[in-house]
Amino acid sequence: MEETIFMKIIKREIPAEIVYEDELTLAFLDIAPNNPGHTLVVPKKATQNVFDVDSATWAAVLETVRKIAPAVRDGAGATGVNIQSNHGVDAGQEVFHLHIHIIPRFTKKEFQFWPKIEYGPGEASAVADKIRANIST
Ligand code: AMP
Repeated sequence: MEETIFMKIIKREIPAEIVYEDELTLAFLDIAPNNPGHTLVVPKKATQNVFDVDSATWAAVLETVRKIAPAVRDGAGATGVNIQSNHGVDAGQEVFHLHIHIIPRFTKKEFQFWPKIEYGPGEASAVADKIRANIST
């Protein structure tokens, strides 16, 4: 499999504005930010997304998000952050190395949640049943 741009950043083969690093994770500024301070948290281990991540790697990434989110908010002079992550082409994933976006927000007006739909009769229970049936622990 071809090496992703994020693996090149992890290996210091290309530059990035790295803001945090520990044994398992790295955090750096998104090159095309949604807002100043928009930060990406990645595992150092080659991992595509939530569909192939192991639990220790996932836990480490989430812990780094928890650890640095206040610094991203305060460093950017923001009042809140969106923590977002895209998994799969149809979900908008462009770089196939697991990453979590921390996006500073300054005013509620600038951000719109995705449009909401309504379930038809029986639709919610049908999809909930299928999700339950697919869960493996
Ligand atoms: P996603 O659509 O969730 O896969 O997001 C990929 C993100 O990676 C985008 O927001 C890009 O702006 C960002 N990105 C792509 N290349 C680089 C790079 N070399 N350094 C930092 N961020 C990057």
